[in-house]
Amino acid sequence: MTWNLFDRLLASAASDQSICIENDDGTALSYAELAALSGRFANLLAKLGVGPGHRVACKVEKSVEAIALYLATLRAGAVYLPLNTAYTPAESEYFIRDAQPTLIVCDPKEKAALGAITDKAGGRIETLDQDGKGSVVDAAAACPSEFETVARAKDDLAAILYTSGTTGRSKGAMLTHGNLVSNALTLVEQWRYTSDDVLIHALPVYHIHGLFVAGNVTFAARARMIFMQKFDAERILSAMARATVLMGVPTFYVRLLQSPNLSRASTAHMRLFVAGSAPLLAETHREWHDRTGHEILERYGMTETGMITSNPYEGPRIPGSVGRPLPGVEVRIADPETGTPLGVDEVGMIEVKGPNVFAGYWQMPEKTAAEFRADGFFITGDLGKIGRDSTVQIVGRGKDLIISGGFNVYPKEIETEIDAIPGVTESAVVGVPHADFGEGVTAAVVRTPGASIDERAILNALSGRLAKFKQPKRVIFVDQLPRNTMGKVQKNLLRERFADLYA
Ligand code: ATP
Ligand code: MG
Repeated sequence: MTWNLFDRLLASAASDQSICIENDDGTALSYAELAALSGRFANLLAKLGVGPGHRVACKVEKSVEAIALYLATLRAGAVYLPLNTAYTPAESEYFIRDAQPTLIVCDPKEKAALGAITDKAGGRIETLDQDGKGSVVDAAAACPSEFETVARAKDDLAAILYTSGTTGRSKGAMLTHGNLVSNALTLVEQWRYTSDDVLIHALPVYHIHGLFVAGNVTFAARARMIFMQKFDAERILSAMARATVLMGVPTFYVRLLQSPNLSRASTAHMRLFVAGSAPLLAETHREWHDRTGHEILERYGMTETGMITSNPYEGPRIPGSVGRPLPGVEVRIADPETGTPLGVDEVGMIEVKGPNVFAGYWQMPEKTAAEFRADGFFITGDLGKIGRDSTVQIVGRGKDLIISGGFNVYPKEIETEIDAIPGVTESAVVGVPHADFGEGVTAAVVRTPGASIDERAILNALSGRLAKFKQPKRVIFVDQLPRNTMGKVQKNLLRERFADLYA
C-alpha cells in the first residue's frame, strides 16, 4: 500500500468535477482540473530529472498553479519545500544553500537574483508568477495530464517546511507522507469536515497552517476553498455568506472584530471558526462569541508536529485553552531540565509523540537528537500544563520564560492582567538584563486608540493583582507589537530593543 499523500487524499480526483479552489476573480478549478494540472507538472518534473528525495523549492505567490506544483512534487516522489515570499535574496540564499534543491521555482522578478544563487548551489531555476504564469506553466502545457504517482512509504519525506523563525533562525522540519496523511485525516474527522464545506483561505501557502491544515484537510474532504491573496476583513466578511469555515491566525479575529459588519447575521452561514499559530486571547474568544454567537475553536500545533491538540467540535471550547490531544497523539508535561513527567496542573515542558511528529531537522542531526527524549517524545519548547480533564493550556515559550530575582515569571500571566486594564489593546512582556534581578520584567504596551493611560496607571493597576516579583519594572508604550508574517509576536526584537533599559 502506498502512503503517497496524493494517492491517499486525491486518488480519485481525476473524475471529480466538483470545485476545489475558487479564486479572487471568480474563476474556479475543479478537482479533476487540479489532478490534470498536477499530472502535467509531475511529468515536467520527471522530465527535468526530479525524482524521489530531490527537493523542489518554491518561492511563489499563492495561486492554483502553486498548489498544483505542490501536489505534482508529491506525485513525482520528491520533497516539496516552500519558502516564505517575504524573504530577501540574502535570506533566500541561506535556505537554498541549506536545502540544495534540484529545482527552484520563483517569481520571474526574482529569477536573476535567485538564479545566481541556484547556479552556485547546482540547481535549476524556473518561474511562476502570481497570476499563475511562467516557464513551468509553459513547459507543462506540452506534457500529458496523466501521471502515475510514484509510490511512497510512510516514512519517506513529503516536505521540508521551515519553521517561522520566531525564536531564532528557521529550521527545516522534515515531514513524511505518514505525518501529513495522519494529521489531515484526523482533523477532517475532528472538525466534521465534509464535501459541503467551503473554506475561506486567506493564509499564505508556504506555512503549515495554510498549506497542510487548510489545504490537505480540504483535499481530504473534497471540500472547496475560496482563495484570497491576503487578509482583507471586508472581503472575508462578504465571503462568509457562502462559506462555512474560516481558518485564521488570532490577528484575523482581532481585525474582523474591528469591523462594524461582523454580526450574528453576517456569520449565520458559517459553522466553524478555527484559530491557531499563536495564542488567541481569551478576551478575543469572548468578544467573538458575544458578537457572532460562535465560539472560536482554538487548536495548537507546530511545523515539526502538525496539529497536536484541538478544542472539541461538540462541547465547550474553553477560552485560553488549546483543547485536548488529538486521537493518536500523546502529550505530556515534563520537567524541562530532567524530563521527569509532571502531574496535573503542574507547569513544564510540553512533549509530544505520535504519527504526526516529524522525522527531524534537515541537516541538523545534533539539534534533532537534542530535541527528542530517549523514549521518542519531541520537546516542543512550549511550556504548559494539563488539567484533570486532559485539556492543555500553554503558558508561553520556554525561551520567553523570565527568571527575575531567582523566580520564574510566565509572561502570559502578566500580559493577561495588563490586557484587561481599560485603555490597553495588547501587550508583550519580556525579560531583559538587569544588574540586580538577572532579568527585569518589562512590558511593551499598545494603547487603545484615544486612551491616555500611562506607565504609573498600569503599574498601579497591577500592584494589587500580581506578586511583587512579577510586576514589570518598566512599561514602554509602542504603536504596535513586532509581528512576523504568521502574526506571531517577535519577542526577540523587543528584547533587543530594550536590552539597555536597566544598564
Ligand atoms: P521557530 O521555531 O522558528 O522559532 P515558530 O515556533 O513560531 O518559529 P511555527 O512552527 O510556525 O514556528 O510555530 C509553532 C509555535 O507556534 C508553537 O511552538 C507555539 O509556540 C505557537 N503556537 C501555535 N499554536 C498556538 C496556540 N494555539 N496558542 C499558543 N501558541 C501557539
Ligand atoms: Mg518553533
